[in-house]
Amino acid sequence: MAKIGINIATGSLQQQEMIVGIDLGTTNSLVAIIHPESKKPVVLKEHDGNALVPSVVHFDETGLATVGDTAKEYLITEPHRTIFSVKRLMGKSYNDLKAHADFFTYRVIDDNTESLVKIQVGNAFYSPVELSSLILKELKTRAEHILKTPVTKAVITVPAYFNDAQRQATRDAGKLAGLDVLRIVNEPTAASLAYGMGLRQDETKTIAVYDLGGGTFDISVLRIAGGIFEVLSTNGDTYLGGDDFDRAIAEYWIGLLGLSREELDQHKQLGQELRLRAEEAKKHLSFHDTFESAVSGEKVTLTKTKLEELIGSYVQRTLDCCKNALADADLTVKDIDEVVMVGGSTRVPFVKESVAAFFGRKVHDSMNPDEVVALGAAVQADILAGNNKDFLLLDITPLSLGIETMGGLMDVLVPRNSKIPSKAGRQYTTQKDGQSGMRISVYQGERDLVKDNRKLAEFNLTNIPAMPAGLPKVEVSFLVNADGILVVKAKELRSGVEQSIEVKPQYGLTDEEVEKMLLESITHAKEDIQVRALVEAQTEASQIIDTTQLFITKNRELLTDEEVAATTNAIDSLQQLTATGTKDEIHAAIEKLNELSRPYAERVMDTAISRAMKGKNILK
Ligand code: AMP
Repeated sequence: MAKIGINIATGSLQQQEMIVGIDLGTTNSLVAIIHPESKKPVVLKEHDGNALVPSVVHFDETGLATVGDTAKEYLITEPHRTIFSVKRLMGKSYNDLKAHADFFTYRVIDDNTESLVKIQVGNAFYSPVELSSLILKELKTRAEHILKTPVTKAVITVPAYFNDAQRQATRDAGKLAGLDVLRIVNEPTAASLAYGMGLRQDETKTIAVYDLGGGTFDISVLRIAGGIFEVLSTNGDTYLGGDDFDRAIAEYWIGLLGLSREELDQHKQLGQELRLRAEEAKKHLSFHDTFESAVSGEKVTLTKTKLEELIGSYVQRTLDCCKNALADADLTVKDIDEVVMVGGSTRVPFVKESVAAFFGRKVHDSMNPDEVVALGAAVQADILAGNNKDFLLLDITPLSLGIETMGGLMDVLVPRNSKIPSKAGRQYTTQKDGQSGMRISVYQGERDLVKDNRKLAEFNLTNIPAMPAGLPKVEVSFLVNADGILVVKAKELRSGVEQSIEVKPQYGLTDEEVEKMLLESITHAKEDIQVRALVEAQTEASQIIDTTQLFITKNRELLTDEEVAATTNAIDSLQQLTATGTKDEIHAAIEKLNELSRPYAERVMDTAISRAMKGKNILK
C-alpha cells in the first residue's frame, strides 16, 4: 500500500518524493525536476526567476558559510575567504594543480604531495568535498523551499572525463549534504537526453556535445545505440571560456583608453569595472550589432565585428579540440548526426556559426544552454524513479581495469571501453604450498606491466586454509557500478573466505593524463608484448625450478648421484638465464631441464605407484 506523508509544518499532504537532477557546475549550479503535471523537465526557480546558484562559498570571520549570489559579492573584496571553481579541485592533489596555482585567489595548501588538496580559510581547513557539499546543501534547501517537500534523492552530473576519484568525490559531497546520490551522469549525456536523444530504443546516433562555459571548454563525442550512451572521446581545455572573451574586450579598451599597467594596478576597482562592462558588452552583442557605455566617465564602444575579431583565436582553439576529439573517436565531421550546444558562451552567435560551419550542420540551440545539463539530469532522475522503465543509461570505462599477477604483469578483467555497469571475474590460485594469504593489487591502464599503470587499491585476502600450491581457487570479481565506481571482491571458493574493497583512488587523473596513458600504450605496444613474453618465461622458469627442487628433495633415495648433479647444474644455468637471458634462451633451458628430469620422473612415479599398490588391500 502506498504511504502518503503529511507535512507537519504546513499540514498539507506531501507529494510523492521527487528525485532531483543537479548540475553541479564550475561557475553556476542548478536543480531541475520533471514537472509532475506537464511531465516536462523544468529548472527550479526562486520567486525572482533566478535558477542559477553561483558555485561560490564565502566564510565570514566566525567561519559561517554562505553560498551563491551573496557569496559571489565577496569575490573582489575578500578573495581569500571566497572559494570559487571548487569543481576544479575535486579529486586533485596539489601537484595536479600547481601549474595553475595563480588562478586561485584563496589559499590552496601546498604540501607538495600526492594527497588530496585542502583549502585554508583563516584557521580552518576544508576539503573540496566539504566545499561542494555546502553548495549541494544550498541547492537542496532551495529545492525544498520551492517544492515544499523534503528532497533527499538526486542525480548529479559530472564532466565525461571525470575519473573514478572525481566521481567518488562528487558522490561523497552529495552524501555529506544529506543527499542519496542515485546516479552520477556525464554532462554531455544529460544534455543529449534533455534534447530527447537516446530515448528511443531503436535510435542509433553519433552526437557531438560542444560545451563552452565561463572558464572551461569540453567537447564530447557520444554514440547512442539501443538506449545506451557511450562516450567515444572527450577533448577540451580546462582554462578556456567566456572569461577569456571578457578579458580580450577589456584589454582592447585598455589599449584604446591608453591606460598603463601602473594605473590599473593602483586602481583595482577600474580593472574590475572594465571586466564587468566587457561581459555586459559581450552579452549585449549576442542580440545587437553595437554596444556603447562608459567606464569611469570614459566612453567605451564595441561592434559585433570587432568582438568576433577579438575572440577569433579562442573560438579556433575550441575547433582544434573538436578536430582532436573526432580523430580520437576515429570519426570525421560527416559521421556526426547531431551537435548539441551547452554553456552560456554558446549564446555568442559567432560561436554558434563557427561550430555549425565546422560540423557542416545546424546545431541544437533551442534550449537554454545554461539549463540543458540540469534538465537532462532531471530526465535521468525520472528514468530512475521508474517512470520510463524500458530505458537504461550506460556509460563506458575510459581505461582498462585489472590486477597484478606473477612477475608484475597486468591481467585485465574489465577492458577499456566496457559498458558500465559491468561485471567480470577470473580464478587465480596460490604459488606456494600452505600459502595463507594473497595480495590483490588493482590497477588501471593499458600497459602490460603494472608498474607502467596506475595503482588504484590493494588488499590482502587472508586466512586461506593450508592447501598445496595450485589447489585454492580464488575468484576475483570486479563490479563497476553505474557511477563508474569499482568494487573488487576476492573469494577462496573452497573455504568461502572473502574480502572486498570499494575503490576510492587517492588522487585524480586529468583527461590529459588518461590520453597520455592511452598514447603510451600504443607507442610501447611492441616493447610491451616482448616484455610480457619474457616475464611469462621467467615465471614459468621459477615455477619449474621450485617443483624440480622439491621433487629431488622428496625422492633423493630413488635418484642416482649423476642424475642429481646434472639436474642441479641445469637448475643453476636456468636460474642464471632467468635473470639475464632472453625469452628464447630461457625456453631452451626449461626444455633442457625437462628433458633431463623426464626419464627419472617417470621412473619415480612408477615406483611410487607400485609401492602404493602393495600397501593396499584390494577389496573384492
Ligand atoms: P556557464 O559557465 O555555462 O554558466 O557560462 C557562463 C558564461 O556564459 C560566462 O562567460 C557568461 O559571460 C557567458 N554568457 C552568458 N550569457 C551570455 C550571452 N547572452 N552572450 C554571451 N555570453 C554569455
